[in-house]
Amino acid sequence: MQFEIIAQDKKTKARIFKFKTKSGTIKTPFFMPVATKATGKFYDSNDMKKIKVKAIIANALLLSLEPSAAVIKSLGGIHRFMNFKGIIFTDSGGFQMYSEHLFLGVNENGIRFRNPFTGQRILCTPEKDMQIQLDIGSDVAMCLDDMPLYPAKKERLIQSVKRTIAWAIRCKRYHDKHNNINQLLFGIVQGGTDNSLRKICAKKLSTLKFPGYAIGGLAIGEPENLMWQATKVTLKHIPEKTPKYLMGLGKPYQLLKAISLGIDIFDSRYPTKTARHNQVFTFSDSTLKLQRKIYKDDKNPIDKTCNCPVCQNYSRAYLHHLIKIKEPNVKRLLSLHNLYFYQCLMEKAQESIEENKFHKLLEESKQWN
Ligand SMILES: [Zn+2]
Repeated sequence: MQFEIIAQDKKTKARIFKFKTKSGTIKTPFFMPVATKATGKFYDSNDMKKIKVKAIIANALLLSLEPSAAVIKSLGGIHRFMNFKGIIFTDSGGFQMYSEHLFLGVNENGIRFRNPFTGQRILCTPEKDMQIQLDIGSDVAMCLDDMPLYPAKKERLIQSVKRTIAWAIRCKRYHDKHNNINQLLFGIVQGGTDNSLRKICAKKLSTLKFPGYAIGGLAIGEPENLMWQATKVTLKHIPEKTPKYLMGLGKPYQLLKAISLGIDIFDSRYPTKTARHNQVFTFSDSTLKLQRKIYKDDKNPIDKTCNCPVCQNYSRAYLHHLIKIKEPNVKRLLSLHNLYFYQCLMEKAQESIEENKFHKLLEESKQWN
C-alpha cells in the first residue's frame, strides 16, 4: 500500500502514516525545510543530511525559470542535481501569485508570469506545470492552484475555487497520462477562510481521488481562529485515510495543534526565518533570543539536550559573539539548530502518538508560542 496508517492517537486525530514514495519510505508527521530553488537559504543538502532532514520542498515554477526543467532533467533529475537522497516535493507555482515581481495576471488558461532572468512573459498552464514537475522528477508534485491573497472579496474566492477545481481536473488528466516516473500528485484545496467554499472545493477534489491532499491559502496573515476553522472544515470533507499537508504553517505549537486535527505534513520558512533573527527553539529552555546580553558569557550550548552539530560544538556565548560582530555565518548555524529542533519535534510527535501521550506534548508545545 502507498500510505498505511500504522498508529492512531486515542485522544486526538493525530496519526502516523508510512509514507512511501519512489525515493523511500518515511513516517508522518514530518516537516519539510524549504529548498525553493534546490537549496536552502544558508544551508545545503549536505547540511540537511547532518540534521536528520528526510524530506524537503522545492518550487517547480522557479526552477523552470532557472536553470530550467530541461537542464535538471538532463542532469538526472532534482535528486541528483542537488545531491539530496530523501523525498522531494515540488510546489506548482500557484503561490508565486504572491510575488509582485513575477506575477502578471491569471485567467482560465493559467497564470502569467514574467521571467525575471530574461524578461520574457510566460503562461503557466496546468498541463505545462505537470510536465515541468515530471521533468524535474520530484517524488510528490502539487496541482496548479489559483491562490487568492488575504483578505480577498467573496467573488475572488469563488473564482479561485472554480479555477482551482478546473485546473485540478486538468492536472490529474495530464499527470495520469504522462507519469512514467512513479510520481505522486496531490490536490490543493483553496477557499480562503470561507467555510462553504472550503467545503465545495474539498468535496470536489475528493472525487478526483488524489493519493494525498494539501490545504493551501492559509497561514498568509488571516486571524488564527479563522485558519483553524478553515482547516477543520476542509479536513471534514477530504478522505480521512489519505495524508494531509497544511502548506506554509510553521510555529511549533501550530504544528502540534494541526497534527491533533489530523494533519500529517508541513513546510515553512518559519524556523530559518526566526533563526536569521537570532531566535532559537529549545526543549530545555523554550525560546531564546541570542542577541540578549545575558548570553555574553554563557558557556552552555543552545540546548543541553540537543545533538545538532551546532550544540555539539559551540556555546551560547560564542554564537552571541558572532551575532554582535555581524558574522553572516551565524545565520547558517542558528538555521541548522532550529531545523534540527523541528525534526526532533516531529520525532517526539511520532513517539507520543505511538505511546498515546500526544495530548501531553500538545500541552507542552505552548511554551514555544
Ligand atoms: Zn542544537
